[in-house]
Amino acid sequence: MSIRYYSTNRHLNNVEGIVPFTGKVSFKEALLKGQASDEGLFMPDSIPMLSLKDIQKLKGKPYRDTALLVAEAFLADEFPPEVLKKIVKDAYNYSVPLEEVKPKAYVMRLDQGPTASFKDFAARMMARLMSHCRPRGERLNILVATSGDTGSAVGEAFKGVAGIDVTILYPETEVSNRQKKQLDTIGGNVRALCVQGKFDDCQNLVKQAFSDPQLIKFNLTSANSINFGRILPQIIYYIYAYAQLAENGEQAIFSVPSGNFGDALGCEYARRMGLPVAKLIMPTNENDEFPVFMTTGKYSKVSPSRACISNAMNVGHPSNLARFFELYGGTVDRVGKVHRYPDQEEMRQYIFSVSITDEQTRQTIKSVYDRYHVVLEQHGAVGWAGLEAYLNTAPDKKLAICLETAHPAKFPEEIQKLLGLIMPLPESMKDLDQRKGSAVSIANDYDEFKNYLRKNLKIKE
Ligand SMILES: *Cc1c(COP(=O)(O)O)cnc(C)c1O
Repeated sequence: MSIRYYSTNRHLNNVEGIVPFTGKVSFKEALLKGQASDEGLFMPDSIPMLSLKDIQKLKGKPYRDTALLVAEAFLADEFPPEVLKKIVKDAYNYSVPLEEVKPKAYVMRLDQGPTASFKDFAARMMARLMSHCRPRGERLNILVATSGDTGSAVGEAFKGVAGIDVTILYPETEVSNRQKKQLDTIGGNVRALCVQGKFDDCQNLVKQAFSDPQLIKFNLTSANSINFGRILPQIIYYIYAYAQLAENGEQAIFSVPSGNFGDALGCEYARRMGLPVAKLIMPTNENDEFPVFMTTGKYSKVSPSRACISNAMNVGHPSNLARFFELYGGTVDRVGKVHRYPDQEEMRQYIFSVSITDEQTRQTIKSVYDRYHVVLEQHGAVGWAGLEAYLNTAPDKKLAICLETAHPAKFPEEIQKLLGLIMPLPESMKDLDQRKGSAVSIANDYDEFKNYLRKNLKIKE
């Protein structure tokens, strides 16, 4: 039976401004739409199971073997096997190091992709799935507003992908020089627009374009982090790490530094597919809405969000919380209003969450380096601090795997200040300073943006 996708908002009958979407769509539709018409998030109506044997057979095999197993489990009805094989082979052409920190405790480095962030894993597979699903003979035009890292991961992921062009908008004064260089020089089918405004202005320009009837012919699409096509690839590395490291079907715990909760959601699904996960640890930075909810039972978002050094996790209301609530029987909407609380006892059985301050984050970067000679950057350090906090409450000898979500060289100032180290850029970014290319500069003005799109976007393949 094929898997269909429903909306997390389907029960919200009496909520102003929401017309619940009560139907179901295919994966392809969920992928191209991104979000349900009622602003809910798409969820699979059943979760495929893997046997422990299937998982154990992946030991010693390349990453793409695990990727194929997960992709086939979800997508075999909608994509031919040779297409999925090609997609995972193209998407995953880099390594996934598993580094032992101390006995039974590992760091999984998800930082070897083209932009040295774990976001490469999801974006690269989603790009190739989209290329396969696009309407025949037509082009898809992706619009992304970015404050930095998502834009370059998405841009690099779609680079050279057939039938799809990408336009990235970023705020002139809010990205670092290194980020600007990354965004401006992707080239080919990916163009960068440098907007004289803030990140919110970029987002508003993109939103207006999506609802502009005169632009419909361009097949405008988002590559937004709530797309289920970005969640699915994030299931894979949990299964991969487990298969490589676990012995005799033992249980494992994962620690996942969390912002919008898309990464952690991958682990939640992996467990529900049959992976022996005893605990999912979801440490946040000082944006503590979720850890507070887990201890008090009451949810209220942090608004405005707090600016912490793990800046990719500065989220006051995680967009994928709606999916976590749904999986445990609750409903929360886009603005953070809870319509039904989930089963909290069950949630606490599987999930542990804790807020890590910037001070603790810096301490962790230092102590992990001093004790084990392992370099973590601030996001991974939140993950490690969360793991230690958990082990303090429940000392056990289970296999523990902490995710490092970015390469330390992406944060040279912090690492140099704390450790006195100058980190060399990862292989994938070594040539960054020599790259050529520039952005088109535009005013924060919808008409100017729209004219640019009408002049430059293509309709036919
Ligand atoms: C996006 C990001 C995160 C947070 O991931 P979520 O899926 O939003 O929870 C953590 N670390 C880095 C480096 C990121 O870029």
